[in-house]
Amino acid sequence: MNDYVEQAISFYHPSQGKTGKEMTSPDYVQLSTAAAITLGLMPGRMYRVDCTHCLNLLVTYPEGCRANCAYCGLARHREEDREFNARNFIRVDWPTARYQEIIDRVRRGDDKGRFQRMCISMITHPRSGDDTLLLLEQWVKALPHIPVSILSNPTTMERRDLEALKRRGAEIFTVALDAATPEVFERTRGAAVKSPHEWSHYWRAIGWAAEIFGPERFGVHLICGMGETEQEMLRLVQRIRDMGGRSHLFAFFPERGSMMEDWPAVEQGQWRRVQLGRYLIDYAGGRFEKMVFDGKGRLTDFGVCREELEAYLHSGKPFQTSGCPGSGAPDVSACNRPYGDSMPSDIRSYPFSLAAEDVVTVLRQANIEY
Ligand code: SF4
Repeated sequence: MNDYVEQAISFYHPSQGKTGKEMTSPDYVQLSTAAAITLGLMPGRMYRVDCTHCLNLLVTYPEGCRANCAYCGLARHREEDREFNARNFIRVDWPTARYQEIIDRVRRGDDKGRFQRMCISMITHPRSGDDTLLLLEQWVKALPHIPVSILSNPTTMERRDLEALKRRGAEIFTVALDAATPEVFERTRGAAVKSPHEWSHYWRAIGWAAEIFGPERFGVHLICGMGETEQEMLRLVQRIRDMGGRSHLFAFFPERGSMMEDWPAVEQGQWRRVQLGRYLIDYAGGRFEKMVFDGKGRLTDFGVCREELEAYLHSGKPFQTSGCPGSGAPDVSACNRPYGDSMPSDIRSYPFSLAAEDVVTVLRQANIEY
């Protein structure tokens, strides 16, 4: 755990003399700590992994995100705390850098060819849509061989915005739905927390993504452990798969300073069963209808034969980070988000292939009978 140099980010000043207020998109973006290390923008080592294969970027504005999601470090209610680009997005810090500098560095190979994908995360801000298009256009012109994903919060978007992103070269469009049920959505990102998002509009956007980007070219982000059952989560995963998309799972982690900072992290057994169920549905022909759940919505039978289940468990793949693919197998995510949803001492999404001893750990946590 000590190998993970989170604190180094505090000493990184990519834009000498600029204040947070001056560093705004589209000239500036934030990038994940892992991407900054991979690109050589900041020093640091990560526990058991030396890079990320996805350059995760985030648009940035002094006013920050105008939404107020209860679990998020970027939420509006935190605007008094710290400047927007000094707050955490998901667990780890996201330093700010000049976009052109990032492009120049990737062009001259500072990432050593390790980036297989780039992703632009949008926030809820009036300029987020236009700036995302500008960033995308610049990237496709400079680095057309590295495909781009868009991670959207579609409250301010219409169908024509998705069409424009597709036209300008985005390969995959994902929607940060995050909540697995309308009730959880309302409680964590809707009117109940004075946040502008609407469940029905998010689903409208998922439908547009399916039509415009097509099968295997859209995805939905889901956070496990915000009050939904395993049954509710996997029903949703099946719905997305039936539309042609993939689910990208995150373990709920209580973000310091967020409204949900006192919530417990998702229970290990629940998380491991949902990870395995999602993998079976998304990549192994599993079906929600064949799975069995108890009275509390807990998964008790995965609906596949013992030998198959054993093989998937021992491959370790279901427990790796889920996200958009890179240049390898479709079920291995380029976006490995090292320690984005847990501490290295208690890994939820493995950012690397599991070793035999990791599989033993996961099997113990999963408490799965087979
Ligand atoms: S829209 Fe996204 S960035 Fe904004 S508060 Fe909600 S989760 Fe955070």
